Amino acid sequence: MQYDVNKIREDFPILSRTVYGKPLIYLDNGATTQKPRCVVESITDEYYSVNANVHRGVHFLSQQATNLHEASRETVRKFINARSTSEIVFTRGTTESINLVASSFVDSQMKEGDEVIVSVMEHHSNIVSWQLQAARKGIVLKVIPMNDRGELLLDEYKKLFSEKTKLVSVAHVSNVLGTINPVKEIIEFAHSQGVPVLVDGAQSIPHMKVDVQALDADFYVFSGHKVYGPTGIGVLYGKEAWLEKLPPYQGGGEMIKNVSFEKTTFNELPFKFEAGTPDYIGSTALAKALDYVSAIGMDNIAAYEHELTQYAMGRLKEIPGMRIFGEAEQKGGVISFLVGNIHHFDMGTLLDRLGIAVRTGHHCAEPLMHRLGIEGTVRASFGLYNTKEEVDALVAGILRVSQMFA
Ligand code: PMP
Repeated sequence: MQYDVNKIREDFPILSRTVYGKPLIYLDNGATTQKPRCVVESITDEYYSVNANVHRGVHFLSQQATNLHEASRETVRKFINARSTSEIVFTRGTTESINLVASSFVDSQMKEGDEVIVSVMEHHSNIVSWQLQAARKGIVLKVIPMNDRGELLLDEYKKLFSEKTKLVSVAHVSNVLGTINPVKEIIEFAHSQGVPVLVDGAQSIPHMKVDVQALDADFYVFSGHKVYGPTGIGVLYGKEAWLEKLPPYQGGGEMIKNVSFEKTTFNELPFKFEAGTPDYIGSTALAKALDYVSAIGMDNIAAYEHELTQYAMGRLKEIPGMRIFGEAEQKGGVISFLVGNIHHFDMGTLLDRLGIAVRTGHHCAEPLMHRLGIEGTVRASFGLYNTKEEVDALVAGILRVSQMFA
């Protein structure tokens, strides 16, 4: 298939706007992605013509909204190749999905002194969610180290296991280094020790084909807004056997079967974990986003972004004083860097004046910054609509900023 990036760009109205009179060059896709027309229109269309609360109504609109919401669950199921829609729980995003598992898993499966293994390159949401439980119940976090290229040390990982290890929770792709972690191997080893694995797919789902059954992940979580869908909706995939075992996370409507003051019984999966009115407008729009990327083809997107990243790495390395953090063999389209002794915030602010949107700071991964011995980086992260011309503009921008500091 011919990858027609210009045609793709036409689907994203925001990409043709200007900032400070300059064409917008949006390289902050790791934080959130822009939305194609079909996603935005899905939101307005559903509010204008279908809006009604789901699951409860006997009336036509409610049933239509319910059908859309449940059809979206099926779209998500297919997208990640889960066995059943009972394994697809809608949440507010990656963070809520991890907190849900952390809370329900620790409550029901762990006791004081038990251990969760995470990696040194985790996002705060995959650290602090566990720390909150750790403080409450005396859970211990063990950390997989990495080498200087930003690759996890699998031998060290294996050494972290003990009879107290109850769960492994790791990012599929690092939001700072771009490293694509060998999650299949990580899962295989954990399973050989009888330990389940949660994979944080926030940075992988938008960029590669993910098959939760092929990976044999026990939990896989992601956010809608990073995969060209709306904010406020995300997904927790969990193997049915695990979701059956875990207690509900929040109480309220939707998640119950029968309620009395003496005893309440809970709804079946996945509704047991979906307390309150769900974001049924968001689920439909998320399904539209998944249909959109599926139509382009996840493998085509991965190949295109890989080439773009290789090109960007090559061009960025031409810049005097360039230091790139994360040169893993398997690397996605996230590039963190510093130039000379220019502060990341100054670089980001001056690039912004040139119309180039990058992120600066610790990227919600402070422990990783400590490992790298820095306070923060400038991060350029690509999406399916970025181009080599935009990479060239980034390089020219960095050179211009460097000259100002020379
Ligand atoms: N994990 C990773 C790897 C991320 O990159 C992010 C977002 N930067 C999150 C978790 C949190 O996602 P959200 O804020 O959408 O819940």
